[in-house]
Amino acid sequence: MVIIMLGAPGTGKGTVGKLLSDELGIPHVSSGEIFRSYVKKQGEIGKQIEGYMSQGKLVPDELAIQILEKRLKEDDVKCGVILDGYPRNIKQAEKLDELLLKQDKKVEIAVNLSLSDQDIIDRIVKRRTCPNPECREIYNIEFKPPKIEGICDKCGTKLIQREDDNEETVRKRLETYHQISENLIDFYKSKDILYTVKINIHSENTSRDVATEIERYLRK
Ligand code: ADP
Ligand code: ZN
Repeated sequence: MVIIMLGAPGTGKGTVGKLLSDELGIPHVSSGEIFRSYVKKQGEIGKQIEGYMSQGKLVPDELAIQILEKRLKEDDVKCGVILDGYPRNIKQAEKLDELLLKQDKKVEIAVNLSLSDQDIIDRIVKRRTCPNPECREIYNIEFKPPKIEGICDKCGTKLIQREDDNEETVRKRLETYHQISENLIDFYKSKDILYTVKINIHSENTSRDVATEIERYLRK
């Protein structure tokens, strides 16, 4: 099963994607995470990627497609994948369809998480991330704080604030989203595989509820 997580940055795609991954037993693949791991290695490609990310811009399609293509050929995603952050535009979506077709697969559902820009900004600047690549748990200092301040509940690693999780970059990322990625909603709607969930950040346990709702829908 191939599931795509759509929605602006900060809608909880990552958290919901990971919950679904645990429940359904298929890997969660986040393009942002993959790019951040390249940046960390500080090789030639990593430095290039860092330039785009720090400005809230998209990594060029050729590079994004190439890196995702490589990832989707790995063994663990043979039976399915939850894609988070990819595709980011129509070109990437078409490329993905081509790629999947070659493997006799297709996108089954595109989940669209919807939330207002102001709520998104509120949420992202309060976001804290576990940098441990085996864990990657996401917290929010207001809505989902860790039990011990600054420390990951799951693995004990010191939490970080992502470099691009500041208000200025978030506004740019939102602009990029509205200009480019929002088109994907119509793309998948026209294929009749769009499933939209309205997010309410003021209720507790949001991401868990959203994941449960999606699962229920998938089992129907
Ligand atoms: P968020 O959804 O919170 O913006 P991500 O971790 O998905 O964060 O992405 C972080 C950054 O990585 C983006 O701002 C962009 O620069 C880059 N990126 C992620 N996925 C893609 C993609 N499919 N194509 C191009 N750039 C991407
Ligand atoms: Zn952790």
